[in-house]
Amino acid sequence: MEFKRYVSTESMKNQGEKQPADGGRWVAVVGGGPAGLMAAETLAAAGINVTLYDRMPSAGRKFLMAGRGGLNLTHSESPERFLSRYGHAEAPLARAIAAFPPAALREWSEGLGQPTFVGSSGRVFPKAMKASPLLRAWLQRLAGLGVSFAPRHLWTGWDQSGALRFTAAPSRAVIVRPAATILALGGASWPRLGSDGGWAAILRAHGIAVAPLRPSNCGFVVAWSDYLRGRFAGTPLKRIALTFRGESVRGEALVTERGIEGGAVYALSAAIRDALAEGRDAVIAIDLRPDATAAELARRLSAPRKRQSLANFLRKTLGLAPVAVALLHETKEGALPADPEALARRIKSVPLRLVAPFGIERAISSAGGIPFAELDESLMLRKMPGVFAAGEMLDWEAPTGGYLLQACFATGVLAARGALGWIESRAAAR
Ligand SMILES: Cc1cc2nc3c(=O)[nH]c(=O)nc-3n(C[C@H](O)[C@H](O)[C@H](O)COP(=O)(O)OP(=O)(O)OC[C@H]3O[C@@H](n4cnc5c(N)ncnc54)[C@H](O)[C@@H]3O)c2cc1C
Repeated sequence: MEFKRYVSTESMKNQGEKQPADGGRWVAVVGGGPAGLMAAETLAAAGINVTLYDRMPSAGRKFLMAGRGGLNLTHSESPERFLSRYGHAEAPLARAIAAFPPAALREWSEGLGQPTFVGSSGRVFPKAMKASPLLRAWLQRLAGLGVSFAPRHLWTGWDQSGALRFTAAPSRAVIVRPAATILALGGASWPRLGSDGGWAAILRAHGIAVAPLRPSNCGFVVAWSDYLRGRFAGTPLKRIALTFRGESVRGEALVTERGIEGGAVYALSAAIRDALAEGRDAVIAIDLRPDATAAELARRLSAPRKRQSLANFLRKTLGLAPVAVALLHETKEGALPADPEALARRIKSVPLRLVAPFGIERAISSAGGIPFAELDESLMLRKMPGVFAAGEMLDWEAPTGGYLLQACFATGVLAARGALGWIESRAAAR
């Protein structure tokens, strides 16, 4: 989507290289995704001069992409359950989510003219089910707050004096020295939208530990037979349940040329990815009829098949789609059992071996990033006073369901408040 249509790029002054008169109250926000935009809003609303830098010609490209799937902003479940979705990062993220909880996110969206609703799964979406009107109103608000936007500025690190270095397209060096910096450079998925994880090497060179960026909410490679790949690549597997190591998820998946992806796969992807990384087997069990018991299926399969092919019989008796029948044949466990009970058990648990995760460039999000041990409670880098970090570049991961955007917004707010406190404490000390 061409961003020029949005008001902000044009109406925000492009004064990225100039130091505002009151440089002591000037913050550089690097990265114009949800985390950086939220940090910019929080700071500008508090009267801070903000310049937002991004390597891309426009801000919020991944946010717009998220909007294609309806823009799942957050989730309506209880705070305890919500926080538990962040796994090892639950405790450090609790502070950020408390600073900007799901209710505040919904109010904020409504304040930008985009009221939200709770879907049947408990997920929260804007009524418009897309990101573009929300982003447009948001950028208008930022422009109104005086935020400057410096597009096509690739951040390349710090110079020896600690100033921020950018390469402004096509190849102009830009050096700036803000009072505080917020890095919100995203993870490494979908690099064509701007975030490629290149910042990790820069931070490591400055002695900051960065956990390797790995695919999260990703699909997996499967060694499909030529038949299954040729006939069914691109076919959805609807109303299934997947189980891996005792955890089961209902939902949908998509058979692709190279493997399998989709919501139900993403939900189990962290555990599957970690098992594969440790060299363990990753065999998921697919329940092709999660809404019926094995006994119920066996009873229906006991009906006379007459002269129907097995595929037709399974389709008519159990409503199994051709792709589901093909999956039954795909397993390495030999011919399908003729016995109704054994066949029903197979239908309830088709084993599928996953070989490797798809590349991070196709994942919804990234795991890894800056460990919380490198940050203080206000998300300031302990080794770089005055530099804060927010969003997906921090070391947390979560399933889809609105948890990703919620954590990006919330850490953007927390980092901005940290930068504000930093500026005020330095002003008081002068
Ligand atoms: C297809 C898809 C669907 C999704 N759907 C949802 C959803 O429905 N709900 C949900 O919660 N999450 C969803 N997500 C995830 C969500 O979009 C991300 O978690 C979120 O955008 C991360 O925000 P961020 O601000 O941390 O980083 P980003 O949005 O990645 O923004 C980082 C910004 O930094 C810029 N940048 C990077 N490096 C540099 C550099 N060196 N110099 C200058 N600028 C730089 C980039 O250009 C980019 O604009 C989806 C993701 C994808 C890919």
